[in-house]
Amino acid sequence: MNKKVYITTGIPYVNAAPHVGFALELAQADALARYYRSLHEEVRLVAGTDDNALKNVLAAEAAGLPTEQFVAKHRESFRALKATLNLATDDFISTREERHIRGAQKFWLSCAKDIYKKSYRGLYCVGCEEFKRETDLVDGRCPEHPKLTPETVEEENYFFRLSNYARELKNLLVSDELQIIPESRRGEMLKFIEAGLEDFSVSRPVARAKGWGIPVPGDPNQVMYVWFDALTNYLNILGYADDAPLFNDYWTDSRLILHCLGKGILRFHALYWPAMLISAGLRLPNQILVHGYVTLNGQKISKSLGNTIHPDSVVERYGVDALRYYLLREIAPHEDGDYSEEKMRDRYNGDLANGLGNFASRVTTLAAKLPELSGVVSLEIVAAIDEARAATATAMRVFRFHEALAAIWKLITFGDTYVNDRKPWEGSPERNAQVLFDLMILLQAVAELLWPFLPQTAEKIRETLRWSADKKSVRVSRIQNLFPRILA
Ligand SMILES: [Zn+2]
Repeated sequence: MNKKVYITTGIPYVNAAPHVGFALELAQADALARYYRSLHEEVRLVAGTDDNALKNVLAAEAAGLPTEQFVAKHRESFRALKATLNLATDDFISTREERHIRGAQKFWLSCAKDIYKKSYRGLYCVGCEEFKRETDLVDGRCPEHPKLTPETVEEENYFFRLSNYARELKNLLVSDELQIIPESRRGEMLKFIEAGLEDFSVSRPVARAKGWGIPVPGDPNQVMYVWFDALTNYLNILGYADDAPLFNDYWTDSRLILHCLGKGILRFHALYWPAMLISAGLRLPNQILVHGYVTLNGQKISKSLGNTIHPDSVVERYGVDALRYYLLREIAPHEDGDYSEEKMRDRYNGDLANGLGNFASRVTTLAAKLPELSGVVSLEIVAAIDEARAATATAMRVFRFHEALAAIWKLITFGDTYVNDRKPWEGSPERNAQVLFDLMILLQAVAELLWPFLPQTAEKIRETLRWSADKKSVRVSRIQNLFPRILA
């Protein structure tokens, strides 16, 4: 085992442009990747799109566009989120790519002993792209897609023998060998196992798939079903098809494999995916971080309701770090949350403009009046920084981003009080310089702690603090308005 860390994000359908809810997952994964990097770990962070989903084909038909063209257009709007959200991703995969197709087929063949063909008749939700059991439905409807009527579908498909893996999966979850965060979600998965695991369909006829998807090896009449195709992206983006060194480094031998995803697809990641990996003789992931759904003004985000907001429009108005801050601070990391313009403005003006922005501008304005600051940092400042560092580390160990940010804001508030109490403009020049030196040490610590969450702001702060090589003195330039106030 090496010390590398591999972090993945779920690959969304590309039947529409991304909305602010998906940005939550990316912000969480990116903050984690940057946090581990700040601890000098080697991290690989990846993203991509599920281009082969039947849902994409249906959306392309509705839009009157060829599927390939429709899918490419939306894929690019997901790919562009790297810039919009300032993500430190290392790679991006489309499931139309050759490296993915060859990898999915190789994986299929590795699971051959657990794959068999049978005729099946069942209720199928196009929204989920899966067959539903009666017990999955509420009033005959899929709880995730209450507007769609499940269709009765009968066909011959390949199935994967999930039923063989119930005991192994239970052991994995009970022992935390595969840890699910939050723990309440583990309980849900264990209930699924208790209820009995049924084999699941891993292919569909080419005709129903409208000719779209990855061919099943050795059977030209079938294409792979969404999960066998989509889930293997996590391997294929590392070069699984060719046994690339990257695959060995970040999958087979890595210290940690962490999947970030939304609650709607947990079952496939916590039950199907580990069973498939065991069957293929591959190493298993260690952790699954599950977030909830984001509503918009208290309502479900839905294209058909016209109730959607693109991350671009938020970033245009408030800046990328403000959106990242909102997603990581306002929304509890493992529960459903809400986005609203009003709450965004409150967080922006309160925490960012009046809080961090005002503090940074105030103390650097004072410090920039002196050519250079040096000294020995006071114990009080050291203690406050240590406390913030420890609290951030504790929060990040349990993926509580909002608590990590709260600890950083506590340090900012401490700094504000420190200025107010000591008034480094009233005392002797030596004393004032000492107080300001203390504050620059504190501001530097704020920038370092902030970086995983608000990287652009952290870098702006760092640029204004030019430390000597021995870190014992600093030249400061004034920080202009980091977050200009925004009025309604
Ligand atoms: Zn559904």
